[in-house]
Amino acid sequence: MSRESSQANRSREAQQEAEQTAARLAVALSSWEAVIGLEVHAQLRTRTKLFCACSTAFGAEPNSQVCPVCLGHPGVLPVPNREAVVLAVRMGLATGCAVRERSIWARKNYFYPDLPKNYQITQFDRPICEHGEVRFAVAAGPRSARLRRIHLEEDAGKSKHPEKAGETLSRIDLNRCGTPLIEIVSEPDLRGPEEAYAYLAALKEILEHTGVCDGNMEEGSLRCDANVSVRRRGETALGTRTELKNLNSFRFVEKAIIYEILRQIARLETGGTIEQETLLWEPALGRTRTMRSKEDAHDYRYFPEPDLPPLIVSPDWIAEIALALPELPEAKRARLRRAYGLGEGEVEILVRQPEVCDYFEQVVAGGGDSRLASVWVLTELVGHLNRLGRQITDSPVPVPEMVALLQRLAAGKLTGKLAKMALEEMVDTGSTAELVIQAHGWEVVSDDRAILQFIDAVIASNPAGVAEYRAGKDSNFRWLVGQVMKLSRGQVDPRRTEELLRQALADPDA
Ligand code: ADP
Ligand code: MG
Ligand code: ZN
Repeated sequence: MSRESSQANRSREAQQEAEQTAARLAVALSSWEAVIGLEVHAQLRTRTKLFCACSTAFGAEPNSQVCPVCLGHPGVLPVPNREAVVLAVRMGLATGCAVRERSIWARKNYFYPDLPKNYQITQFDRPICEHGEVRFAVAAGPRSARLRRIHLEEDAGKSKHPEKAGETLSRIDLNRCGTPLIEIVSEPDLRGPEEAYAYLAALKEILEHTGVCDGNMEEGSLRCDANVSVRRRGETALGTRTELKNLNSFRFVEKAIIYEILRQIARLETGGTIEQETLLWEPALGRTRTMRSKEDAHDYRYFPEPDLPPLIVSPDWIAEIALALPELPEAKRARLRRAYGLGEGEVEILVRQPEVCDYFEQVVAGGGDSRLASVWVLTELVGHLNRLGRQITDSPVPVPEMVALLQRLAAGKLTGKLAKMALEEMVDTGSTAELVIQAHGWEVVSDDRAILQFIDAVIASNPAGVAEYRAGKDSNFRWLVGQVMKLSRGQVDPRRTEELLRQALADPDA
């Protein structure tokens, strides 16, 4: 069998398997309800680590971004990173949390080779933010999940275990050790894999939009553990949960949750019980395996961090952070839809690309028509910028020039085709709309006599096409319009041209 067809077979099998799983899930969930709470770790977008001045940049030479503080040498003292506190508070405010003015750093003790201090500085019973809410949408409608808490903590390093045959040593990279994280803990409010997925997507969007986290799951900037339980429909008490780890992509989160829901239901339906345990998702095998059971659950011996005073965030500081909070994605979607009458696709592009959105809104505010602006900014200008590898913040066409171009277009002084040529030249030369249009004499020809000259020439040189049209082949009309356009190099007013051409073709003497 050829490679392509075996690949196609495999993807067909995967497709069938996914459909079967979805069907099994639907049957199972007719009498059972899934209950999910997510714990999300987000790496904060600070330049430096949480308690020292080491860089947080990703991908550097292993162990090149370390110092005595993050290596846990004796006698050193941590100094909290102000920016990390700002970002944690910003995320709290963006999700409607109450911000605690006096939160406490705590020591979480455990031994692991990538944790040189043998403890992690985190927050325990007094986290910086509590009681928030995240709104999201699933196919059936809008939903929300409450947030239990958001707390600040430092990350551990990374262990690299042997991957290839012949390798025997595990290696440790401590560059990530001490990187600031927030842990965002939801209440068990999510009712299935679709909700978990949509919640996570909404959270990622808020994190990115507010500049709190870059949201990069491949680089580990965003990590998710899922707590899953099931209960009979109508039951109000929570079932015993398991915790799923190693879900380092959205797809894994969804797949692992589905797997775990089906496993728990099958077990309960055959008279078994669920053990509270931590499970590791194995993507290659599509199943989980036990990492640790409740019996060997850690006792972290939390206690207040003796090297750090309470973290004080004054009401003034909170107000300052609130003031700098950008408009949030959901609110922005609603406003863009309302204010400009844009379609869903355009709204999505604008929400995902705030700089493009700013440019677009400035064009409209400057007097550009919003429908035209959405096409000419989102498609035409962005297309040119992609071609040149430039950002819109560094657009060769400033906002007032885009407005000038669109106003000419709206007034019928330019055809779409001429406007495209003008924009291309404006992008390439940095010239103004007026200069480009004047230089080429790209004014629309709307004078009937001038248009008729083009029409007569086209009729004269295409007798066969004209005869066919007159004999009833309507589709030739578009083609003839195209010929007039071509001959005039796109300069004739298209609407008037069509009117005059119809008249000319209807007149047998022409
Ligand atoms: P721990 O302190 O062991 O981490 P928590 O009670 O703080 O446990 O809960 C951690 C996460 O597990 C939270 O996101 C919470 O919503 C979720 N969770 C707790 N109980 C359940 C349950 N029975 N089913 C599903 N999720 C749960
Ligand atoms: Mg936990
Ligand atoms: Zn350091």
